[in-house]
Amino acid sequence: MQKTIQLRVKPEEAANASSLISILAAAIGQNQAAISGYHILKQSIDARSRQQVWINLSILAFVNESPSNRFEENLEFPILPAKAKEVIIIGAGPAGLFAALECIQLGLRPIVLERGKDVRSRRRDLAKLNKEGIVNPESNYCFGEGGAGTYSDGKLYTRSNKRGSIEKILRLFYQFGADERILYEAHPHIGTNKLPHIITAMREQIEASGGKVLFEKKLVDFVIVDGVIKETITLDGDRYPTEALILATGHSARDIFVLLKEKEILIEAKPFALGVRVEHPQSIIDGIQYHCALRGPDLPPASYSLVEQVSDRGVFSFCMCPGGIIAPAATAPGEIVVNGWSPSKRDNPYANSGMVVQIDLATAAAYLTKIKAKSNLSLNLNDPLLLLEFQQFVEKNAFEFGGGKQVAPAARLVDFCTNKTSTNLPDASYLPGLHSANLAEILPNFVHHTLQEGFKAFGKKMKGYYTNDAIVVATESRTSSPVRIPRDADTYQHPQIKNLYPCGEGAGYAGGIVSAAMDGQKLAQIIADKFK
Ligand SMILES: Cc1cc2nc3c(=O)[nH]c(=O)nc-3n(C[C@H](O)[C@H](O)[C@H](O)COP(=O)(O)OP(=O)(O)OC[C@H]3O[C@@H](n4cnc5c(N)ncnc54)[C@H](O)[C@@H]3O)c2cc1C
Repeated sequence: MQKTIQLRVKPEEAANASSLISILAAAIGQNQAAISGYHILKQSIDARSRQQVWINLSILAFVNESPSNRFEENLEFPILPAKAKEVIIIGAGPAGLFAALECIQLGLRPIVLERGKDVRSRRRDLAKLNKEGIVNPESNYCFGEGGAGTYSDGKLYTRSNKRGSIEKILRLFYQFGADERILYEAHPHIGTNKLPHIITAMREQIEASGGKVLFEKKLVDFVIVDGVIKETITLDGDRYPTEALILATGHSARDIFVLLKEKEILIEAKPFALGVRVEHPQSIIDGIQYHCALRGPDLPPASYSLVEQVSDRGVFSFCMCPGGIIAPAATAPGEIVVNGWSPSKRDNPYANSGMVVQIDLATAAAYLTKIKAKSNLSLNLNDPLLLLEFQQFVEKNAFEFGGGKQVAPAARLVDFCTNKTSTNLPDASYLPGLHSANLAEILPNFVHHTLQEGFKAFGKKMKGYYTNDAIVVATESRTSSPVRIPRDADTYQHPQIKNLYPCGEGAGYAGGIVSAAMDGQKLAQIIADKFK
């Protein structure tokens, strides 16, 4: 017999298989020996009670019968026949890789062209970035095998559940090496240390099936004849005959947006969010969220999600990383961009999160107009790259007010909110180092003010959050793409250019690993249908 049971247990009971079996047996009305196995279907934490943190579980129990595997078999990837049609995919981020895997399942041969290096070589460039502050514009936290997803935090939750099958994405991550927990946890997370192996396994599958993943192949041009893409050209001069081109180059491929604009291919400015990364000692966040002086060993480091409306502008936490590290995510020298990641165990002593403000076109344009002389921008308010220029302006400002190389400007949280430059900074996770600065000189005034008010409001929601033991680091600016590459709602092709399929976060159709992966899968399906 199989039975699905909902349980509410203590963290130490959830962490111990024999305790769980005994609770399951009692709930089902059987003795423990009758429970031959179980699968956790869903798991979430309920920390609302001040007395006790609970773990909510949905469990499939096997009673007096052999437990089945979670999946009867793996999802299959066939060997492609010689005559399989080719799909050119630019970018090996989650969108590009999941498009490639889906192509194989649909009988199409993916040719993935990636400007960066494979995960292993990329790691050396990240070490240089963290230790010496040297940014390689082709190999960094955003560019290289697996895209921004490889050395990311690997949180796998998304609100975009209508865009595709989240289950299939999670199942593929599991099949290629992620822990089973991602299949049932409410907030699945892989961790930076595990992602590179998973991404490598995906690439090896693509190659084993007859697809290609080519590194240091940077798209620099395409040949368009009568509004149809015919060839893709890479920096080394190679040309790839093209019948379908999935453009999944991510939100940091500024040269791609410039290329499209120069070729008079329609692109649009797209609102995005910009702000700072805030870091607290993890113990403060644990204390607030779990109502305790010290987190017990069976509870994960606590997280939070905050949102506030300040006047008519939204300010919200973004990509919160418990037990994490603040990372230098710039893609060019002379700019500072920060982001966050955590290892699978989330065992660093810090909790960081992006804290960002929604940026719309009108406000950005008004700001740039006001500071025109200083900004040295061409400033055409109808320019589709206006928001990108705004983003870049703030990143360069952060560099100017930083401590050189990738040393980022920072302030203690209360100092930031009370317009003070901190006299000293606490220890922090950001490896290139921090420099005390007045962030009002870096951030646009409306962003600075909204963040100040937002932090004060968050301090009221989470008692202890508003503290000078926390630091604020500038700038969190690559939250999503400031440009959209339009596509037709039915054909998913660019409205002017046939065979061009804008995809993923860079084109404005995803925000995060799972939604980018789903968008890649979707486009592979659309192209397979078209080829039929
Ligand atoms: C440090 C960090 C932590 C993050 N944490 C999370 C998280 O926990 N959860 C989450 O959901 N998201 C997270 N993100 C965001 C997530 O990584 C992105 O949303 C996701 O990777 C977007 O996928 P994509 O495939 O659309 O683009 P990308 O991942 O940006 O991939 C684009 C790829 O295209 C390549 N490319 C660019 N231009 C060219 C060219 N001209 N020719 C050839 N190739 C090119 C790039 O090198 C890159 O590999 C994080 C990002 C960072 C940087």
